[in-house]
Amino acid sequence: MAHANSLFAACGTTIFETMSRLANTHGAVNLGQGFPEGLEPAALVERLAQADRAGPHQYPSMMGTPSLRQAVADHETRAWGLATRPEQVMVTSGATEALAACFFGLIEPGDEVVLIEPLYDSYLPIIRRAGGTPKLVRVEPPHWTLPREQLTAAFGPRTRLLVLNSPTNPCGKVYDADELAFIADLLDRHDCLAVCDEVYEHLTFDGRRHIPLASLPGMRARAVKIGSAGKIFSLTGWKVGWVVAETEVLAPIAKAHQFLTFTTPPSLQEAVAWGLEQQRDYLDGLAGVLQGRRDRLAAGLTAAGFRVLPTGGSYFLTADFAPLGFTGSDADFCRMITEKAGVAAIPVSAFYQGGAPAHYARFCFAKTDDAIDRAIERLQVLWLARPTKEALDGRGPL
Ligand code: PMP
Ligand code: GLN
Repeated sequence: MAHANSLFAACGTTIFETMSRLANTHGAVNLGQGFPEGLEPAALVERLAQADRAGPHQYPSMMGTPSLRQAVADHETRAWGLATRPEQVMVTSGATEALAACFFGLIEPGDEVVLIEPLYDSYLPIIRRAGGTPKLVRVEPPHWTLPREQLTAAFGPRTRLLVLNSPTNPCGKVYDADELAFIADLLDRHDCLAVCDEVYEHLTFDGRRHIPLASLPGMRARAVKIGSAGKIFSLTGWKVGWVVAETEVLAPIAKAHQFLTFTTPPSLQEAVAWGLEQQRDYLDGLAGVLQGRRDRLAAGLTAAGFRVLPTGGSYFLTADFAPLGFTGSDADFCRMITEKAGVAAIPVSAFYQGGAPAHYARFCFAKTDDAIDRAIERLQVLWLARPTKEALDGRGPL
């Protein structure tokens, strides 16, 4: 297209939109896109309605309303022991915008940015559009262990940033203290910042605790911490996020944010501020509820013939479908189960640049028990029929 930016023109439509559309077309149980069902806190939704009626309805400050900046600062202090002032907080329209503001605000053309695959799909296009050169290393299934040698080798004189997502989408890895100390040392040695995507900060299981990189010695000055009210309160459509960083690091990020969205609806900010202060029980209880749903889905998928990988955090689990005997790609598999079994999932290769393992599907377990049970019933059919590529092409039974 003559008038299009070539980088974006070359991108496909995001896999989450693609699979949700396909799920809708086929009336599938949507275990693909990461949005929760049946977990929305009613009191918070009511608080939004009140805030909407009360107003104001005009532009809030580009940095966020005073009440939300204060509430986020208090939350950082309370939840993670990261004493934070409101001036160190900037409100954004979701974590997606926070990430874009960080990349546009911090990257100079030619800078190198170290990232760890599998990774969330919005990172690379924006980093490239900002002029950055991605340097990719991988954590490998089934244990997703940090590849320390490769990570060390990925850092060089032009490295400007590391992007760290813990707990990780899609693989549910929760970085431990030792891995974070290793990363912190690299950042110090190379004088780099880290953009820390911590949207699943409260969703850790089996007694694990999320450790923000910013909580390690010396890392307050290097860590740019991103949060999402959508994830904290299971209200992903609200699109309220934030960046927490030292004021001098935040300043260039704010310069980018002012030209991206500038600000976020005031009633949403007001409601989220109230929620962070008043809905602490919800926030503390969510991981327990999701752990139960994770176990329900994992048991069902295992019974349906999948090899389920362990997941320590996030909304997602990864399952190997090779034991089902399916020989096509993960994209083929996810399309096939959406169309023929009526269950949508996300191909894990969508979280890689290329050369990804092609026999894993990501399932979201932040759904109702009923949705999980229906999905499992439908997937049992696959185990009984052992579908092949021929089934896909209509040359054999499902
Ligand atoms: N980062 C990760 C790792 C995610 O999974 C998501 C998706 N929800 C986001 C960022 C974006 O969050 P938000 O909806 O707040 O923009
Ligand atoms: N983060 C969500 C997921 O991984 C989706 C967000 C989106 O659709 N852009 O499924």
